[in-house]
Amino acid sequence: MSSAPARPPLTIRMHEADNVAIVANDGGLPAGTALPGGLVLRDKVPQGHKVALVDLAAGDVVRRYNVSIGRAKAAIAAGSWVHERLMDMPAARELQGLPMATVRRPALPPLEGHTFEGYRNADGSVGTRNILAITTTVQCVAGVVAQAVQRIKTELLPQYPNVDDVIGLEHSYGCGVAIDAPDAVIPIRTLRNISLNPNFGGEVMVVSLGCEKLQPDRLLPPGSFPIMDERDASLGPETVCLQADHHVGFMSMLDDIVASARPHLERLNARRRETVPASELVVGVQCGGSDAFSGVTANPAVGFAADLLVRAGATIMFSENTEVRDAVEQLTSRAATPEVAEAIVRELGWYDRYLERGRVDRSANTTPGNKAGGLSNIAEKAMGSIIKSGTSAIGSVLAPGDKLARDQRGLVYAATPASDFICGTLQLAAGMNLHIFTTGRGTPYGLAECPVIKVATRTDLARRWHDLMDVNAGRIADGEVTIEEAGWELFRLMLDVASGRRKTWAEHWKLHNALVLFNPAPVT
Ligand code: CA
Repeated sequence: MSSAPARPPLTIRMHEADNVAIVANDGGLPAGTALPGGLVLRDKVPQGHKVALVDLAAGDVVRRYNVSIGRAKAAIAAGSWVHERLMDMPAARELQGLPMATVRRPALPPLEGHTFEGYRNADGSVGTRNILAITTTVQCVAGVVAQAVQRIKTELLPQYPNVDDVIGLEHSYGCGVAIDAPDAVIPIRTLRNISLNPNFGGEVMVVSLGCEKLQPDRLLPPGSFPIMDERDASLGPETVCLQADHHVGFMSMLDDIVASARPHLERLNARRRETVPASELVVGVQCGGSDAFSGVTANPAVGFAADLLVRAGATIMFSENTEVRDAVEQLTSRAATPEVAEAIVRELGWYDRYLERGRVDRSANTTPGNKAGGLSNIAEKAMGSIIKSGTSAIGSVLAPGDKLARDQRGLVYAATPASDFICGTLQLAAGMNLHIFTTGRGTPYGLAECPVIKVATRTDLARRWHDLMDVNAGRIADGEVTIEEAGWELFRLMLDVASGRRKTWAEHWKLHNALVLFNPAPVT
């Protein structure tokens, strides 16, 4: 009946200058446990939580990742559990006087010879899936489109075996919104650019209500989208308008949408995967349900894979404004040019003001689950989050809803909120064709539009959620693999998933979260 842990006590210190380490053992460690260096725990310390390695006086800096994650409110004896109630959060870093493009990083050596099997599009981009996506202008049509999608799947899809799926791009925007407000540009361009995601093959098909504020040619003005059939390029998008006079009864609307889908499906079905270089990957990374292991196992492995992608000439986006804000000087110093550093400051400054309008600050980010998982505050969370961007220079910055240009390769900061659904939605708009999602607490997150590879930070989570997590980075903390080995494994898995040779668990179970638009403009 011993409560002793099955494995020897294990703590992880991220930097030799750190005065705290985290407990790695499943279930944490009881008070009285002697750590390998001789330090004896004064408190029970839960898994992922911090233990003081030295005596800290009131006001002393608590150091992790060799940065301050706060100051001790009172004296903390060595061996104590260091939780958020014992610490004051460090002040927010001002956006003036930052180091701008000061770190000169030697270019990483090219990585050649890696390929995947993808669907090449007319604009040169490459899809990892072959999906018919039906764009909607307004939430009013969502129920009708959902019914039509079911009919298309049942009646048509079996005839087009090379098409992976049919989906409706449902969202809450389109009417009842201040559509001429300056910030309305963000949700509108997000929807437009999602319609053009490489996984949809350039096929644009719109269902509109008729009276909504977001009219089809405002969403997709002529010239903003490819035309795959013989239609006049000066026209707006091909649209089924539910309020059109010829629709008599619900069935006529469904019939119209199903009939419109057929030529799109025929063209998509004629496509074949071809071998393309790994440089055609456009990978979006984010985390959700983070814990103290996120920054120790999963995110460093993703960071190593991020460097491999940059070396292969691919595009990798990292995001989540409130999670990088406390490490802003690391981003600006890593910018490839002063202009890129200024773009980072511009986007994060805009986001600071957006938060101020709502009378909150970055401390609104951490969740009860983050804290239960050992993350005391956003400063600590930021350090663990930013590691997933790897080590290369930040080559460019994207504003929310913007689409990557074809030559925008390498490491990109896509400025988005940290909300899992909004970040994923904005990365889809940017042109993401593969999504990497790290989680410590666990989330069944998935997208219909793009494969999502989920990386667990802890073996305990990977074991319990064995049919939801694609990669167990907890093996790093267990001493079974190195960060480099896990990073290579993830890189190879990305090529397999991109090629359709492997399906992710979220694809297997069809776990699809909603698109959630970032609308900083008023609703009416
Ligand atoms: Ca997130």
